[in-house]
Amino acid sequence: MTKIGVIGAGQLGQMLGYAGQRLGLEFIFLDPADSPPAATVGPVLKYPFDSDAGLQKLASEADVITYEFENVPVGALAKLSPDTPVYPPAEALEHAQDRLVEKTLFGSLDIPVAGFHAVDCADDLREAIDNLGLPIVLKTRRFGYDGKGQCIVRDAADADSAVAELGGSALIAEQWVPFDRELSAIGARNVSGDIVVYPLTENEHRNGILSVSRAPADAGMLRETATGFLTRLLNRLDYVGVLALELFVVGDHLLANEFAPRVHNSGHWTIEGAQTSQFENHLRAILDMRLGDTDARGSVGMLNLIGEMPIDRSILEAAPWHLHEYGKDPRPDRKLGHATVVTEDPLSRDEALENMALLLNI
Ligand code: AMP
Repeated sequence: MTKIGVIGAGQLGQMLGYAGQRLGLEFIFLDPADSPPAATVGPVLKYPFDSDAGLQKLASEADVITYEFENVPVGALAKLSPDTPVYPPAEALEHAQDRLVEKTLFGSLDIPVAGFHAVDCADDLREAIDNLGLPIVLKTRRFGYDGKGQCIVRDAADADSAVAELGGSALIAEQWVPFDRELSAIGARNVSGDIVVYPLTENEHRNGILSVSRAPADAGMLRETATGFLTRLLNRLDYVGVLALELFVVGDHLLANEFAPRVHNSGHWTIEGAQTSQFENHLRAILDMRLGDTDARGSVGMLNLIGEMPIDRSILEAAPWHLHEYGKDPRPDRKLGHATVVTEDPLSRDEALENMALLLNI
């Protein structure tokens, strides 16, 4: 039986595991947390992510290794290759971990981005303000997620305090984008180089955290443009696995924000809403199997359940909703689960999402 080793045992690892069980795969995880979500689908080696002993154990047990979050230390992956294949490749991880390197890569592939400027001190930020104008979104180059590690600078007088707030150096200043909508383009590339792309997803964030996704997004020609971006990125990185590219829509233009070298929250709708889920296609890609059909099964909506689960979950357990609970303890801003609805048309989907948001008070 083929065994997949996964670095990280959170909800993404858990959903990979559920998809893999249907393909007859076994799983083993590496994660220092106590009873993480993926413990429901396979044994968890309880070691830090960069522990030599933990990684060696994972490599000795698994046929292929993958990861479910992008802050895996690149040095840790280097310790594993070349005996056990690791996908996505370390180069993708290196680019995704540093916003400056990532934006430079986008530029080299003719993927448009908002103006940006490296910031290592307040004077750099003042220079960025002169070049890019205000407001500026100031972000840490590394380890930001769900809107953390960033702030908006609206006044040049705030340059010193903003830089200090985010740690003083290794920052990036980005032009603030007055976007109309946010989309994500999710695709998969297998070892042989075949590529599939899902219909675009439209995403709504609250407090920097994904709240609602709708797919297929009403995007017209933008799908073709986004598919071009995604294809160039996947090929350039000799990528293997699922990759999610986050995009801003401004008028009829797209600007890339960032990419995630892994399955992505905005692709959870594919579990019930697409012919093949992103989790199954990630596994198919890293095992060099034929990639599955990415067509949507209808108009699909996904609601994230953040911070606390509803007291009355029966409303989410009843058809047409599909409830996914990750088995995590409630905590403010923590993703505890999600619910998906598949409907016949966008109007019914939006109505279902609206009614559910009202019932759940979100
Ligand atoms: P990020 O961590 O880069 O994905 O940012 C989290 C969210 O902040 C994005 O999904 C946007 O809603 C918002 N955001 C990030 N960068 C910008 C920007 N340059 N202009 C406007 N909004 C932004």
